[in-house]
Amino acid sequence: MLYENVMVPYDGSPSSRAALEEAARFARNDPEMTLRIVHILDTETRVAALLDKEKRAAADVPSAHLRDLQQRVIEETDAAIHRQIDSILEELDNRVVIEFLEETSPGSQIVAYAEAAKCDLIVMGSRGLGAIRGMLGSVSNHVLREASMPVLVVKAAE
Ligand code: ATP
Ligand code: MG
Repeated sequence: MLYENVMVPYDGSPSSRAALEEAARFARNDPEMTLRIVHILDTETRVAALLDKEKRAAADVPSAHLRDLQQRVIEETDAAIHRQIDSILEELDNRVVIEFLEETSPGSQIVAYAEAAKCDLIVMGSRGLGAIRGMLGSVSNHVLREASMPVLVVKAAE
C-alpha cells in the first residue's frame, strides 16, 4: 500500500474537484486506502452575507434567526458538496470520511487536520474559488509551506 490515509481539502472549485478525481484514482487502485474529504466552512462570513442581503445588521437580529441562518448555511453547503462529489464516491469501495469544519482560516485548519488524522498525503487543487488568477492560491501556498507530509497539487483542466 503506497498511501493509507489521503486527505482531499475540498472547496467546490474546479481544481479541488480535479484533486478529488485524482485521489479517487489512487483509491480505486487500493481498496485499503482511506479517503478523507475535508471542507472548511466559514459560517460567520456566509451568515454575514445573508444578513447583508436582508439589509440587516447582525446586532439587530434575534439570536434564533441567526441560528436559523447558520443552520441553513450548513445544510445548503452539505447538500451542494454531496451533489458534487457523490457520483465520484459511488464507485469506490474504500472507507471515505467526509468532514465539515467550521473555521475561518482554511490553510492552517487543513494542516492541523492532516497532522491530527495522521494523513500520509494531501491531494489538493492549485486554485480555489478566489477570483485572482495565478499559479497557487493562498490556501495551497500555506499548505505547501507548512505540511509535513507530501502534497500533490492538481490543476483543473483548462
Ligand atoms: P485565495 O483563496 O487565496 O483567493 P484561491 O481560492 O484561488 O485563492 P485556494 O483557496 O488556495 O485558491 O485554493 C486551493 C485549494 O485549497 C483548493 O482547490 C482546495 O483544495 C483547497 N481549499 C481552499 N479553500 C478551502 C476550504 N474552505 N475548504 C477545503 N479546502 C479548501
Ligand atoms: Mg480560496
